[in-house]
Amino acid sequence: MSGGEVLAVRYGTRTTTCAESYLNWHVYREPDAAFTMDYFFWVVRDATGRTTLLDCGFAPDVGRRRNRDLLADPVAVLDALGIDPGSLERLVVSHAHYDHIGNLDRFPAAEVVMTRRELEFWSGPHAARVQFAHSTEPDELATLARARDDGRVTTFDGHLDLGGGVELIEVGGHTPGQLVALAPVPGGRAVLAADALHFYDELTADRPFFVVADLAAMYAGFDLLGELAAPADHVLVAGHDAEVGRRFPGRVPGTDDLAIRIEVDA
Ligand SMILES: [Zn+2]
Repeated sequence: MSGGEVLAVRYGTRTTTCAESYLNWHVYREPDAAFTMDYFFWVVRDATGRTTLLDCGFAPDVGRRRNRDLLADPVAVLDALGIDPGSLERLVVSHAHYDHIGNLDRFPAAEVVMTRRELEFWSGPHAARVQFAHSTEPDELATLARARDDGRVTTFDGHLDLGGGVELIEVGGHTPGQLVALAPVPGGRAVLAADALHFYDELTADRPFFVVADLAAMYAGFDLLGELAAPADHVLVAGHDAEVGRRFPGRVPGTDDLAIRIEVDA
């Protein structure tokens, strides 16, 4: 598949530790260490030229409250890329955590696409329990519910072909209805893991992230990502790994090096 483009926009960052990031870190019996965790959303231009966003980043004030460093307001980066949030037609939500739907209210015209399971979970009976709720913001879940009530949310189960070479696959694990995306890029296809894979280490060392709704589904997601990314013309893009910026050297001019071009054999 060719004729498409994917940009990973690195809009935020923080320093974290292994013990704070990996589930039950103590079982690995390794010393703790600090590392950089980046925050991304993704701009997908499909083979027909249509622009879709995958997630929209944390809201600046919420990021500040949660001690995340904002490198640029996601909407300002879109502006630099010539994308008008007010007229954006399609926003795919990988899952409903604060760092993925934080700016949803700034895309008033967009069709929101996500899994049915993810949408239903966050208005369901367990969403307010602290182990789930700590990764969400009530106002943002309310914005999502309003979009649903306005008929702007399209949901699916399992698999959705968006056309133009873009496909969405429900994997669960990190959240009940977490999805991953496939999209055409120069030289092949990108596997956009979002938070089905925060860090490449989760896959290579088989170490789940600490925020997990279903551990078996998370491991199954790792297996699926490994299969999806196996062809030589496919590249795997982790959702929070600073390594993304090193693996993919291409940058879009005028974005302060925040818009990273995802390419095969870059
Ligand atoms: Zn995230």
